[in-house]
Amino acid sequence: MKNWKKTSLLTAIVLLLVLFSVFYLFKMSITIPSSDIEFSPGSDLSSIKLEYSAAKPKNIVLFIADGMGFSHLSLAMHAHQSKNEPSVWNEFEIKGWHDARSYYGPLTDSEASATAIATGTATNFGHIGIDKDGKALKSLFEMASDLQYTTGIVTDSYIWDGTPAAFIAHTRNEDDARDILTQIAESNLNLIFGELEDLGEDDVPEKDETLEILSRRFQLLDRSLEIPSGDNLSKPIAAIFNEDEVQDVSSTPNLTQLTQVALKYLLLQDKPFVLLVECEEMDAASHENDSNRVVQGLKSIQETLSFVLDFSRKQGETLVVFTADHETGGLAVVADFDNYPKTQIKWATKDHTAAVVPLFADGPGAEYFANIHRNWEIGERLKKMVHLDTSQGKDDSKIKLGQELTNPEN
Ligand SMILES: [Zn+2]
Repeated sequence: MKNWKKTSLLTAIVLLLVLFSVFYLFKMSITIPSSDIEFSPGSDLSSIKLEYSAAKPKNIVLFIADGMGFSHLSLAMHAHQSKNEPSVWNEFEIKGWHDARSYYGPLTDSEASATAIATGTATNFGHIGIDKDGKALKSLFEMASDLQYTTGIVTDSYIWDGTPAAFIAHTRNEDDARDILTQIAESNLNLIFGELEDLGEDDVPEKDETLEILSRRFQLLDRSLEIPSGDNLSKPIAAIFNEDEVQDVSSTPNLTQLTQVALKYLLLQDKPFVLLVECEEMDAASHENDSNRVVQGLKSIQETLSFVLDFSRKQGETLVVFTADHETGGLAVVADFDNYPKTQIKWATKDHTAAVVPLFADGPGAEYFANIHRNWEIGERLKKMVHLDTSQGKDDSKIKLGQELTNPEN
């Protein structure tokens, strides 16, 4: 009996080692070159049936609050209600939710969910800009660049983080920072603001190499964040900060300031634009079950959103879509019976949950984002929105749906 157990254990260990080696070799061998990408067909956008006719937005600002669920939102709203203050959340014309999923089910990670939002196609955990089989998917940003949009990314996380990377890069290896940075430098992206992280560890290059890679495409701004003028105005820009330097509203710079500079730069280009703003704080804080950091992060999100909505209202041609990639922490706001009617935060987990997450929209085209149920439907609609041809017909301010729309992958 003892020998039998020993043999079984050894067999199991050998099998596990073989499986691990095969998995590792496979993972290493499928790194996708950033040039000559043969894109997966993904979903056929021409098959989306939409009963919709309204003004097509010139610009799109997509705000992704990583890890933010409805309880995070409730916490933010309660804080305003207790002070009788107006809340930015009430200002959105469209308020709904979506089911943040991976290809295989109701749980997801940032890479899979951001890829769904960026490309309109569900994919597997850890997949950045590729479908479940590893084939590259054309992203909203890549399509927008083809159509002469200017594109930008602002994040309070590191610049090769899975969420922004899904809009630019195509890889199965979320940890290969050098590859993601190289793909960013070889893309058509016009602006990137974010942080450095884990310099010199594993596949993460040191700061000098990171800046060298980025400077192949971008003019690197200094801390003044002064936008270049003259002939340099039209050239791509990057602003790179140290790890955890972009924190909450009190940090310099903060997410709001970076977003302000980004919108100023994009407006100056005098072209339609798509801007992604990512706030990582809800995810980072919720993985640690750090309630105070959640509260600080919510302030950062709200302040930045207030600015973006104000910009959209004044500018008049900018759609704002706010959402999350998944919920983190299973946060619950419950009664604090020792200090009633005060509330307290409880956590169910330090991981992601399968909870549905907020999806809000405002500005021209906002109604297009009502009644969405899956994360990839956001990507489908964003891609279709930039692709819509308004150049024909009597009223070119109207989106023409159900006609002449060909699959943009062709
Ligand atoms: Zn997470």
